[in-house]
Amino acid sequence: MRASAGVGGCPMETQDNFAILAPLIQLSFAAVFYWLQRTGIASAWRWGLAYGLSALAALLYLPPFDPAIQTVLSDACYLVAYSMFAEAILARHNQPLRRMVRTIVLLAFLGLDLIAVMVFDSLALSVLAIDTGVGVLLGFGLLAWRQMRSSVDITLGLCALLSVAINLLSAITYGLVFPAQVEVAQVFGTEYAYVMQLTGSVFGIWFGLSALATYSLDAMARYREAADRDPLSGLLNRRGFDVLTKPLIKQGLGGALLTVDIDHFKQINDRYGHDAGDLVLIGLADILRSTLPEKAIIARFGGEEFVVVLPQAPLSEGGALAHAIRVTCAGHDWRPAGIDRQVTVCVGVAEANLDEETWRPAFNRADTALYAAKEAGRNQVMFARNDRLQPISRSAA
Ligand code: GH3
Ligand code: MG
Ligand code: MG
Repeated sequence: MRASAGVGGCPMETQDNFAILAPLIQLSFAAVFYWLQRTGIASAWRWGLAYGLSALAALLYLPPFDPAIQTVLSDACYLVAYSMFAEAILARHNQPLRRMVRTIVLLAFLGLDLIAVMVFDSLALSVLAIDTGVGVLLGFGLLAWRQMRSSVDITLGLCALLSVAINLLSAITYGLVFPAQVEVAQVFGTEYAYVMQLTGSVFGIWFGLSALATYSLDAMARYREAADRDPLSGLLNRRGFDVLTKPLIKQGLGGALLTVDIDHFKQINDRYGHDAGDLVLIGLADILRSTLPEKAIIARFGGEEFVVVLPQAPLSEGGALAHAIRVTCAGHDWRPAGIDRQVTVCVGVAEANLDEETWRPAFNRADTALYAAKEAGRNQVMFARNDRLQPISRSAA
């Protein structure tokens, strides 16, 4: 929010305090965003720069200096600051930054301000040029409105929208309808200065807190995602698996459950090294992702053990997919991973009974079937049907 350094109609002491308050708030936000950027949130620099320039724009009025030069320098800072606020919003939503267009708009309004100040020495004309410019430049951020979905982003967008509206209203009110018939140097003490100072402080805080809230929510979402994922394979871990599968069984929506285990994985590690073993784990995760349907909930439970839930799928569908996984893995060329031998898996397949309240019984049945597959010679799929184990017919792999 464009703000000037004086307050009309207030006692002098209040004016001085108020003149310092707005840049102090802006500097505080600039420092917080700078710190965020230093801690690894790269995009925070835009907010930091915008707040820093807003503070500088207000502070430029404080030292006794040529009022015309002070005004133009300060106005230039406001224009760049508001252009940066818009860029921060556009960047947050991965929208085109439109730097070229914004620069042209910025230079055009700065040129008009130069004429208003240097040629006409008119506060009204300067207000008209700069408040319109600030409103238009911040308005670029609103081009991302379709992407503003979360309540925090909508709050941020609303704040930007109101700020645009207030700047345009100010341009019309103080630039056209009730132009202050004063010179630029007499901005201190005008009602315009008071209104801009007040709205600048309020919107500065609202805007900054909303932007900080977007970063906090992003960080929380990132940590939640990291807590639910296995970093090596990118699949869910046990926690993430529980979060997604528990509600299914509670709602009585059962399904098939597969346990997948690599055969003689220890030998692969011993012979080709741990890194090659990791590549096999990553490769098997890719095979699972590409072989299984989108509805499949796939997790790595640790080591070389993977678990899959196929919501609402019958045992037969689970068996067919288990067979596809086994055949694809056995036929996979692992030479790019430095492994010149076949890698095979065993799969145990079970189905959750409708009266069961957790996946644990189905998991135990599938695990028993898996170890029966190991006993039967590996590279096998075994069903747990009721209380009986039954191998699936094998085709050459
Ligand atoms: P089986 O055919 O009976 O399943 O034998 P196996 O060798 O596959 O099973 P075992 O449980 O004896 O060995 C599992 C090995 O997996 C031992 C462990 O060092 C290795 N392992 C566990 N986690 C990782 C991992 O993240 N990366 C790699 N490279 N190896 C792992
Ligand atoms: Mg194994
Ligand atoms: Mg194992």
